[in-house]
Amino acid sequence: MTDTRAPLAIRRRGLMLVLSSPSGAGKSTIARNLLESDAGFELSVSVTTRPRRASEIEGVHYHFRTRREFEVLRDSDQLLEWAEVHGNFYATPRAPAEQAMAEGRDMLFDIDWQGAQQMREKIRGDIVSIFILPPSMAELKARLQRRAEDSAATIATRLANARIEIEHWREYDYVVVNRDLDRAFAEVKAIVAAERLRRDRNPGLFEFVSGLLDEKVE
Ligand code: ADP
Ligand code: 5GP
Repeated sequence: MTDTRAPLAIRRRGLMLVLSSPSGAGKSTIARNLLESDAGFELSVSVTTRPRRASEIEGVHYHFRTRREFEVLRDSDQLLEWAEVHGNFYATPRAPAEQAMAEGRDMLFDIDWQGAQQMREKIRGDIVSIFILPPSMAELKARLQRRAEDSAATIATRLANARIEIEHWREYDYVVVNRDLDRAFAEVKAIVAAERLRRDRNPGLFEFVSGLLDEKVE
């Protein structure tokens, strides 16, 4: 007979995973790997006023909007958080995130330190935040150049802003240095696995344990 009280079936609270890093440290690569390897995660697709890169798809990587359209969304309270980053506006749409939370699903947020601060204030207990660091500033620059999707001026702005972003590293629950991608990704997966097992994220444990204690054994 199947044991319907198996721990794996225990209902749990969703994990709101925030990933931040200076541009070029590898956060999008790690986020993509996580989404591909873990069907439990859904990406929060942000709204941005930044121009679309050649490799990006509307509605998949971002919702690309004009400044005017962005302001309408912001002023009608449809954004959970928003910030100006590298001269463009970025925001997390409210409805998908609130729905994921209500349904106990896990969601991944690729947002900057300003967005992470606002999310911590609004969502508190369900937020887990990871800051990704590059192994060196020279490697950060090299990665921005190798990505070859931004102009030289954009790369220079991002490099200058990297120091400001890095100064916020202490505000995060975890810090991962992305020197070797496989290792950094394994560390992120370990964080996710442990956070999913937290007692306070698994309210169904109460029922499971009380069933265990009620069970009569010969
Ligand atoms: P971010 O999202 O933080 O701006 P990306 O994920 O786009 O950064 O990564 C920037 C570039 O660095 C990409 O070309 C990516 O393939 C590369 N990259 C990511 N992680 C590593 C790593 N550990 N070693 C070498 N290159 C990496
Ligand atoms: P990029 O232009 O390289 O895609 O992103 C630039 C920066 O904006 C990154 O640090 C990224 O995490 C951040 N960002 C992307 N979406 C959001 C968002 O919805 N809110 C905030 N606050 N930052 C975001």
